[in-house]
Amino acid sequence: MGPPTGNLDWLYHLLGYTLAAAGLLLFLWALLWDRSRGRRRCPKCWYDLSGTPSRQCSECGHEAPSEQRLFRTRRRKRIAVAAVVLIAAGYTTSRVPLLQSGGWVELIPSTVVVFVAPPSNAPYLSVAAPPLAVTLPMPTLSLKEQLTLAAWSRMESGRLTRWQERAFLKRFLNANGTEFASFIAAPPKWPTDKDFPLLVKKTFIPTGTSTPLTTQFVFAHPRREGAKTITFPTPLQFERHLPVEFRLLFGKREVLRASTQLPVFIEGTTETLLASRSDDAATTLVQAALNPHLSELNGKPWLILYDRADVEPWNRIAFGIAATFEVRSQDRTIGTGYFIPQWTRSVWKHWDEPEVTWSEDPAEALRRAPLHLVVRGHPEPILKQYLAWPFDKPAVESWTGEFTVQLELRPHPGF
Ligand SMILES: [Zn+2]
Repeated sequence: MGPPTGNLDWLYHLLGYTLAAAGLLLFLWALLWDRSRGRRRCPKCWYDLSGTPSRQCSECGHEAPSEQRLFRTRRRKRIAVAAVVLIAAGYTTSRVPLLQSGGWVELIPSTVVVFVAPPSNAPYLSVAAPPLAVTLPMPTLSLKEQLTLAAWSRMESGRLTRWQERAFLKRFLNANGTEFASFIAAPPKWPTDKDFPLLVKKTFIPTGTSTPLTTQFVFAHPRREGAKTITFPTPLQFERHLPVEFRLLFGKREVLRASTQLPVFIEGTTETLLASRSDDAATTLVQAALNPHLSELNGKPWLILYDRADVEPWNRIAFGIAATFEVRSQDRTIGTGYFIPQWTRSVWKHWDEPEVTWSEDPAEALRRAPLHLVVRGHPEPILKQYLAWPFDKPAVESWTGEFTVQLELRPHPGF
């Protein structure tokens, strides 16, 4: 099913191009045809002065300032102007089918559209297919929105040249503040003996049209492509910078290329990758952040430890924590367990009741003497965690200190 005007499109084109061609011929005729061809003519009224030796016209009295002036080409300016009008009329006529489907904006040449259209997303999903374009109700758009829509829909229907596409897309990307380097993320630090991973954070830019802009990454080095990651097998051929080329595709067509050097930090081996934080400053922070205490619930004491949250002192802890703990009563260990605060921060519950393996009843032990908690940091789980997902980690460090704290009985944080 075609648009109702579809059958007449050829007629408008034929008529339009014929008018324009006639106008062009008329234009050339008006300006170039009536040359002197050896005739001496009055430059004002074009009377033939071949029989007159003087430069003064016997017809209108005008005196030519020089002999040369008598041999000028007669240019019919009014007819030339009329010819230009004819060309414009032909152009307009050839555009009637487009005008019927797209409005007056169709009269604006693409070269103008790509530079004056506001470089934002298309104001609504433009539809390139003619059957839909006529059946969809057109919302009322402002002048600016119509221009933006024109730029995108012309790009979608392949009516823009390569440089026109690039001109508009460059303006669009600039207005969006697009940073291609932020489309991928590298680990803050990586060992030489492990395959190097990159996280693909973003693969496309919405345009408001049904065709998105998609990004392809091109690397100079051998790699494996995963769903969300790109992996470079060892031995790694880069240490400080990884050259990346970005290809931007509109539909299946490549429209832009950009390149950058992704800073990377590759050094040492897996054993030396993780830095240790066992200093007093780090341990004091961990103790305050975990804030261990007991809370009574259903008549039993529970160990409470606090999880990573957007509070102090957690905001000052960039290193990983994987802790084992012992609950001690006098000189005996009566319970053991472990606690690994996750990097994802829960907004509503930032404490935990870690599982404790009790060898004695804590309620009874608490009645006899105060309980203490010994907490020790271990690097292995942090290293494993980092190697599995290194992208959102602020530092490649783990806490390896130790502290002991008396467990007070406090109200449960959830009640
Ligand atoms: Zn004259």
